[in-house]
Amino acid sequence: MRPAFPDFRLGKVLATSFTGTLSERHGDAVERIPTPQRLVDWLAVSGLAVDSCTPAQLDLARELRESIHAAATAAAIQDTLPASAVQVINDCSAQGRAAAVLTPEGKRRWRLSSASCVEDALSVIAADAISIIAGERDGKLALCASPTCQAAFFDTSQSRTRKWCDMNTCGNRQKKARFNANQRKNPRSAD
Ligand SMILES: [Zn+2]
Repeated sequence: MRPAFPDFRLGKVLATSFTGTLSERHGDAVERIPTPQRLVDWLAVSGLAVDSCTPAQLDLARELRESIHAAATAAAIQDTLPASAVQVINDCSAQGRAAAVLTPEGKRRWRLSSASCVEDALSVIAADAISIIAGERDGKLALCASPTCQAAFFDTSQSRTRKWCDMNTCGNRQKKARFNANQRKNPRSAD
């Protein structure tokens, strides 16, 4: 039987979907790409299909992921960007050879230089991270209000007041926690 792995949390923004492959960084961290094959799976569902991935490529991917997390967190709180994280993001961005191609249906697709080139896929993710950290896109970087999460996410809501990285997980959990706390404080709140 195939061992069960934690599900992916897929958002609309590539770079923060990628940083979301490690969640609960300030609690019991959940690694969602624990094996090279799981990174292959994640890349496939993210429009960056590759044939294979080596342990070294997985290490590189995780290094990029944590660098994006560090830089995006700093950008969200308007802190100085950590130089080492910037270096990793820039190196990954420069290393890859991926081309955006337009399909006959008018959609963008990424063409990687070879199907074994995880580095090409990582360069697309790095470039996506650069565009949101540099403020090139419509939206605002913010940190998830869940104390055990604090993930950097890209808020594209009209009011820019989104509080959670993900409404279905962090948002819901927080709502439930608040509800339970209220129940404890006011056991007769039905009055
Ligand atoms: Zn969160």
